[in-house]
Amino acid sequence: MAEPIKPGKLDAIDFLQVDDLLTAEERLLRDTVRQFVAEQVTPDVAEWFDEGIFPRHLVKQMGDMGLLGMHLEGYGCAGTSAVAYGLACTELEAGDSGVRSFVSVQGSLAMYPIWEFGSEEQKQRWLPGMAAGDLIGCFGLTEPDSGSDPGSMRTHAVKDGSDWILNGTKMWITNGSIADVAVIWASTDEGIRGFVVPTDTPGFVANKIEKKLSLRASITSELVMTDVRLPGDAILPNVRGLKGPLSCLNEARFGIMFGAVGAARACYETALEYSKEREQFDKPIGSFQLTQRKLVEMMVGVNQGMLLAMHLGRKRDEGSLAAEHINFGKMVNVRMALDTAREARSVLGANGITLEYPVVRHMNNLESVYTYEGTNEIHTLVLGQAITGIAAFA
Ligand SMILES: Cc1cc2nc3c(=O)[nH]c(=O)nc-3n(C[C@H](O)[C@H](O)[C@H](O)COP(=O)(O)OP(=O)(O)OC[C@H]3O[C@@H](n4cnc5c(N)ncnc54)[C@H](O)[C@@H]3O)c2cc1C
Repeated sequence: MAEPIKPGKLDAIDFLQVDDLLTAEERLLRDTVRQFVAEQVTPDVAEWFDEGIFPRHLVKQMGDMGLLGMHLEGYGCAGTSAVAYGLACTELEAGDSGVRSFVSVQGSLAMYPIWEFGSEEQKQRWLPGMAAGDLIGCFGLTEPDSGSDPGSMRTHAVKDGSDWILNGTKMWITNGSIADVAVIWASTDEGIRGFVVPTDTPGFVANKIEKKLSLRASITSELVMTDVRLPGDAILPNVRGLKGPLSCLNEARFGIMFGAVGAARACYETALEYSKEREQFDKPIGSFQLTQRKLVEMMVGVNQGMLLAMHLGRKRDEGSLAAEHINFGKMVNVRMALDTAREARSVLGANGITLEYPVVRHMNNLESVYTYEGTNEIHTLVLGQAITGIAAFA
């Protein structure tokens, strides 16, 4: 007979005790990244966001910590579990979605395709430097006229002897203007192929996109490629078609599913603290039923989001995760995070709109996270197709 169920002394943040699901090693990694964020990101991130500065000095530190390409094996990568990678993303994004975006793009969008689809020479040339944070990568799929429908891309590569000549424009490319290497997806006579392009190749120009009001501590760029001549061995030899870029996006979305919970948690924590200190009508605003409802909704969202991420993370590590599970996780957790940020913003009242508190920064960042790596609508359509068997994309 089980013990009778009694009221517990529960943590206001990890209410469901999801921590119990972590191994000692995972907890250590989580705590290490949390401390890094507390010391290196949180004190200055509002200023970076305000001034539109990417904290480039953190790249090497993150490389030293093994956070770049951390779930990949060999070539200087840490070779951790998928859950460990996810937990790192949660902590980084609790600091700022821009920092997590850097790590996602570097590891999942730039290193992963080289690691999975590249030649041995490409792996040796790029991966150790990227894992160490000495080299920065970016991933060029989206174009000005080709977003949710990447198959409509215009960037193309044609053969010239044994070389390839690349032409086209990529848009909204994270890390674009600070990258040493770009993984560019282009249409060819053989279908869509990936190219590993050193960014100092003549004809390759990266222009930073200014005036963003979201992910301001992250660099987003336009890439213009005019007759970029590449040697034959610049092509990723082991993948053809859209499944190449889409498999990279699955890797990155996995990290976002965990990361978004971190942003949500930071907003909830801030709102909870604020609600206990801020007094109106001679009482803390946390004593009002309407505020408590907001706080409870946030707490439930954060805990459900973490449980979902952990469940799918464990499935990933045991090899039973389907791509549609990641669509589910990215869609649900980012939506939850955005709802949580907006609710937290309202708890903070007017203070909620300033960078003195992290909430409006997270809220604005999450608008990008909601759109990139597959919009909320596209994930909905993928799931709609999965449950009805009918594609409703076009
Ligand atoms: C800050 C930031 C960083 C980014 N970094 C990168 C990067 O590093 N590399 C990269 O390649 N891309 C990157 N992107 C681009 C991102 O992946 C695209 O913005 C995203 O795929 C959506 O494309 P779009 O913006 O062209 O929107 P569109 O595809 O034009 O969509 C506009 C709206 O229409 C909806 N829609 C489109 N098709 C359908 C449909 N069939 N049914 C219903 N609704 C539909 C969408 O859901 C959306 O709401 C980044 C974007 C941002 C904002």
